[in-house]
Amino acid sequence: MADTAPSFATLAEDERLFQNSVYEYADREIRPHVREMDAAAAMPPALVQQLFALGVMGIQIPESHGGAGASFFNSILAVEALSRVDPSVAVLVDVQNTLVINALLRWGSASQQDRWLPRLAADLVGAYALSEAGSGSDAFALATRAVEEGGSYVLTGRKLWITNAHEAGLFIVFATCDPAAGHRGITAFLVERDTRGLAVGHKEDKLGIRASSTCELVLDGCRVPASHVLGVRGEGYKVAIETLNEGRIGIGAQMTGLAQGAFDHAVRHVQARRQFGRAIGEFQGVQFELARAATDLEAARLLVYHAARMRDAGRPVVKEAAMAKLFASEVAERVASLSVNLYGGSGFVKDSPVEKLYRDAKIGQIYEGTSNLQLQTIAKQILPAV
Ligand SMILES: Cc1cc2nc3c(=O)[nH]c(=O)nc-3n(C[C@H](O)[C@H](O)[C@H](O)COP(=O)(O)OP(=O)(O)OC[C@H]3O[C@@H](n4cnc5c(N)ncnc54)[C@H](O)[C@@H]3O)c2cc1C
Repeated sequence: MADTAPSFATLAEDERLFQNSVYEYADREIRPHVREMDAAAAMPPALVQQLFALGVMGIQIPESHGGAGASFFNSILAVEALSRVDPSVAVLVDVQNTLVINALLRWGSASQQDRWLPRLAADLVGAYALSEAGSGSDAFALATRAVEEGGSYVLTGRKLWITNAHEAGLFIVFATCDPAAGHRGITAFLVERDTRGLAVGHKEDKLGIRASSTCELVLDGCRVPASHVLGVRGEGYKVAIETLNEGRIGIGAQMTGLAQGAFDHAVRHVQARRQFGRAIGEFQGVQFELARAATDLEAARLLVYHAARMRDAGRPVVKEAAMAKLFASEVAERVASLSVNLYGGSGFVKDSPVEKLYRDAKIGQIYEGTSNLQLQTIAKQILPAV
């Protein structure tokens, strides 16, 4: 009996067209600049403008607010497609859509949405500032203070590792109004870049995703009106947990796209490179390695798409998102490493595209919760009583 049920990896026609159009753009416009952006550790402002024009910076923003009015799943497709070419560009789009816009759509008041969503769809880059020097995995041990003072809040502290900080005009900043209350003191604030007392500090010089900016954020008596509280005072931990749970699916998509990009290079290379009088792809040892990589890749994509489709169906995705990120980031490292191996010596030098993807892969096991933290999340879901 023929099985006509579509798999999670089956894309609807409009999804397929959307993903192809993003990939074609990336292949044509971004690929020629990947190496120089990596070397310069910078992303040209014109490229960021192009991403807005392409419509990938406000994918879930309703059309009434100037966005594409599309699904979370479409954000995942865009991140995956961009990452096949450059995971640095992909993470800029990922943070914008799966963290910043996602948080505003879920937690923003009508006036906050009216004020920022049209700009986020048009020209405003967003960033998500949770981590600090003393609070990474233990994110809710953050020390940034928010002190209420006559209708506004004064923020003081230092955020570390903030993706998009160089380009961003809007930051979601997590701070505590009451350190004694632990996670229940944490509040999320919408802070515009030109707010007095906010400064973007040191930019990190990184191993991978070098064109993506990662900076310190310094808050020194930064005053924001109470109307800039995102969600409810003392419920910033919910904003963080819920957005990061879904954001992880985006990192899974970034890592799946990266693995696909590395795999594509490897497949081309093994057909072109000849040794012992034959294309190296004719050797069974090489074929088996690629067969395993293809299997890994398909499994990673299925986990990512499954989690994203469940999220759009309004179902809980805590376990599924953690599994997708955990597995896809491991696959990205394995497939990028294999691709370097299959390139031989030419995979070890900057002239090869796979050298960069190998470096880029490492971050997947670190940000938006390290692999150990994903395992902890999965374990809690499968052993709830322990
Ligand atoms: C390039 C980059 C971009 C980033 N972008 C952002 C951003 O935009 N916004 C933001 O807020 N943050 C961002 N981060 C921060 C990132 O989320 C943290 O680095 C990450 O959560 C890990 O925290 P940490 O670096 O403090 O490591 P630590 O928490 O110190 O972890 C170190 C090691 O200890 C392990 N470990 C810690 N606790 C446990 C435990 N309970 N059980 C088992 N193992 C444990 C970890 O798995 C890890 O291997 C970014 C980081 C980088 C490098």
